[in-house]
Amino acid sequence: MSVLGNSSPTPDETIHGHGLRMTDQRRAVYDVLMGERDHPTAVEVFTRVRSKVGNISLATVYNCLDTLTACGLVKTVTHEREPARYCPNLNEHAHFFCEACGAIADIPLRARKRPKQGQ
Ligand SMILES: [Zn+2]
Repeated sequence: MSVLGNSSPTPDETIHGHGLRMTDQRRAVYDVLMGERDHPTAVEVFTRVRSKVGNISLATVYNCLDTLTACGLVKTVTHEREPARYCPNLNEHAHFFCEACGAIADIPLRARKRPKQGQ
């Protein structure tokens, strides 16, 4: 009997679980999101990935973001009519929108669903 759930699955395992592969392009997009967690738009992700990978199209970045979102590795964040932003923080959290500068920051929520052991 193997024990699962001790550590969360790696992004590779998660994508495999959806019958897909972590391609170089998907990994590059995911790495960009993990590298700077400032909730970039797809175009901003594209700019960053391109500075690393070079040869990648915006359409490919969109496809990668769609795949990562569908697999649950990335969440989309939308605020009013602004373009969707992407967030790799899978912990339960809220988003703080700064209306002055347009920045989005994560606000951790206290986990209340799991009671402590021995309680
Ligand atoms: Zn977030």
